[in-house]
Amino acid sequence: MVSRGFYVDSSRCTGCKTCVLACKDYHDLGIDNAYRKVYDYEGGSWAANEDGSYTQNVFMYHLSIACNHCNVPACTEVCPTGAMHKDDMSIVSVSTDRCIGCGYCTLACPYHAPHIDSKLKKSSKCNACEERLLEGRQPICVEACPLHALYFGKMSEISEYFNGGASIAPLPSGSYTSPNLAIRPSPAARPSGDREGFVANILEVEQF
Ligand code: SF4
Ligand code: SF4
Ligand code: SF4
Repeated sequence: MVSRGFYVDSSRCTGCKTCVLACKDYHDLGIDNAYRKVYDYEGGSWAANEDGSYTQNVFMYHLSIACNHCNVPACTEVCPTGAMHKDDMSIVSVSTDRCIGCGYCTLACPYHAPHIDSKLKKSSKCNACEERLLEGRQPICVEACPLHALYFGKMSEISEYFNGGASIAPLPSGSYTSPNLAIRPSPAARPSGDREGFVANILEVEQF
């Protein structure tokens, strides 16, 4: 099966969150749901010198992340009904008719991608805008990004044109689920497991 996923150019991303809103609008998501999140990751400190100047080593960058349609998806492994599955396009999708809303997928995914829809009581998450892919178009989040920081495609194609890994803080190491995700890191990027920085917008990203 051909693996498909996202290329994220974190070195271009300004953290504007147009991608998040375009996705919410297109998929008509309620205020308590978002398929894409933008992490604002920052850290460092500054100190006053004797001559009155300051020395600093502060850093910050943004990471726009949705479901990574992983090669070893933790969500499908724990789903008791097979509702969460990898489809013919290699997209990890939810069959809502089989979903019982148990939430196991939300607990298992290290990227916090699935969310139990409060109205439907079913799991919901990024489906890579599959209906658009079938028409030869890019996902709406990709099209909306004013910085051209996102792209979706075959991973063979992505790795041919772009260098990038997935193990960037605050994300977990890509070794857990083999995500189809290639991040071009910001020059300020820290590796997964970093303890120098923190997610500055934790309330925003944790609400979904
Ligand atoms: S990112 Fe999470 S929800 Fe998406 S395929 Fe991977 S484990 Fe499953
Ligand atoms: S691919 Fe589609 S569903 Fe997934 S985050 Fe982007 S806009 Fe949302
Ligand atoms: S729209 Fe583009 S620049 Fe803005 S937050 Fe999303 S990925 Fe970053």
